Amino acid sequence: MKDSEGPDLDRLKQHFAQRVVHQARQVLDQWQYVQTTQWTTQTYTDLSEATTLLARYSTRFDQQEHLAIAHAIARRLVVIRENQGRLRSEDISALSQSMQQLSRTGLRQGDRPDQALQLSLRKPVYVGLADREQAERLCRQLNYFGVLALTCDDPQHFHRVMRERHPAVMVLETDFGGVGEGIRLAEDVQKGRERKLPVLFFSHEETDTPTRLAAARAGGEEFYTVTLDAASVLEKVEELTRIAHQEPLRVLIIDDSRAQALHTERVLNSGGIVTSTLLDPIGAMDALAAFQPDLIILDMYMPGCIGTELAKVIRQHERYVSVPIIYLSSEGDLDKQLDAMSEGGDDFLTKPIRPHHLIATVRTRGARARSLNARMVRDSLTGLYNHTHTLQLLEDACLRARRDALPLSFAMLDIDHFKRVNDTYGHPMGDRIIRSLALFLKQRLRKTDHIGRYGGEEFAIVMPYTRGEDALAVIEDIRQRFAAIKHPAQPQDLSCTFSCGIAQWSSGQGAAALASDADLSLYRAKHAGRNRVDYQPSNSHHMS
Ligand code: GH3
Ligand code: MG
Ligand code: MG
Repeated sequence: MKDSEGPDLDRLKQHFAQRVVHQARQVLDQWQYVQTTQWTTQTYTDLSEATTLLARYSTRFDQQEHLAIAHAIARRLVVIRENQGRLRSEDISALSQSMQQLSRTGLRQGDRPDQALQLSLRKPVYVGLADREQAERLCRQLNYFGVLALTCDDPQHFHRVMRERHPAVMVLETDFGGVGEGIRLAEDVQKGRERKLPVLFFSHEETDTPTRLAAARAGGEEFYTVTLDAASVLEKVEELTRIAHQEPLRVLIIDDSRAQALHTERVLNSGGIVTSTLLDPIGAMDALAAFQPDLIILDMYMPGCIGTELAKVIRQHERYVSVPIIYLSSEGDLDKQLDAMSEGGDDFLTKPIRPHHLIATVRTRGARARSLNARMVRDSLTGLYNHTHTLQLLEDACLRARRDALPLSFAMLDIDHFKRVNDTYGHPMGDRIIRSLALFLKQRLRKTDHIGRYGGEEFAIVMPYTRGEDALAVIEDIRQRFAAIKHPAQPQDLSCTFSCGIAQWSSGQGAAALASDADLSLYRAKHAGRNRVDYQPSNSHHMS
């Protein structure tokens, strides 16, 4: 956009772009609604209309990316209509994929903050502090991490931006706009709202209990005193602004009755749950490996195999020890149900079962299993994958790269002179830097990349579909941006750098060899003076 086109044209363009983004949000909302309730003809109509509008606006305002996604959704909706409006597993997967693409389109890192604010799908953060300079510093920090933050001059300004768009979070000083005015402002904002907008309060001094109580009532999620630490705000904001786009739940149904299985599938699909059916229990282990379900629904009585026996076999495999098993049967006998539970089942549903009861049970059990599983594969300080799981992901990625003949890169990062950070600023500050880098990587890398905490201050990134040169470009950009961050600390802010080594997978290579290439590359980066990314294309081929 040239300046000579004039501010009017600029404003006009932005106005239209805003329409497209607004409509994209409508489509996403419709889809999220299905995950909480059930798919009906009404849902179909609403989603269709929202999509048609999205396509129309995208065409009119020349937004090719949005248009392509709108078309993909529309095509899928046609398929669903041809199926008498029934939602099937493949439709759920396809729609969910489009929605995830859509949820990423609004993010434009390069835009001016106030423009990006309007054009992002992710809700913004409004900051109101008595000290304007402090507020701007905080916003800059948040913007660095891809969070859209806007400084408000005074309560009037705050109300004005509130009318334009509701934020995901507000950061308010209790005395913003005068003594106690910050809390009053929050109270005003919350008035008449069914669900309160989260507020992070800040006070320059320690405060009394009544103030804290008032803050909590006005939607206060946190209360920071004396110093406002950008890293803690960032973590909280990250938690509250994340767009909740989970992969749909996956359920394996094992039932010898085709009619019963079909019925169960239909019910679950209407709840946005992906299913796969197995009619012969003998194939259970293969089906588990291929489908990787979050949960299993098991018929109690099948010829040649009783449900509880099969459950026992499944439980003997370490990998499936924690996958929930729900028995489905017409058995009304309580004693038999209890027996079934003691044989590795988690729940017992009696036929005929009400659809919304089945969906609710699966959703609750599935969500709990997922969060348990996440705790097993994730590092507790950063929420990234732990060492073991990162290596597993690397192995999977190597297999896939071989099968599909697609590129794959592996990167290893190590923070420079980290011992000094600990020695000078203390271990908690060191931890904070580790968390910052983790968050930074999560924000900057693609969703298909797997990020792991490999060791203390070491990170590893599995980058499928990525050639070494491209990995280099991406991480080089991250390196520069991370080095530019001023981490707030006492007695003065500190900067931190990292070194990185990248290796590209070459055919025939296993995960261990690839990791050792990356390690060698990291060593070169350190040796060459740190704060740099090393990638040597030819070298990785000699090694294999
Ligand atoms: P280099 O540039 O060569 O990587 O120097 P370095 O000081 O970063 O490397 P070194 O491996 O000698 O030291 C790493 C330090 O990281 C040592 C250890 O105390 C610290 N560290 C490891 N894990 C953690 C952690 O979880 N929290 C904190 N605060 N420090 C950690
Ligand atoms: Mg190290
Ligand atoms: Mg180090």
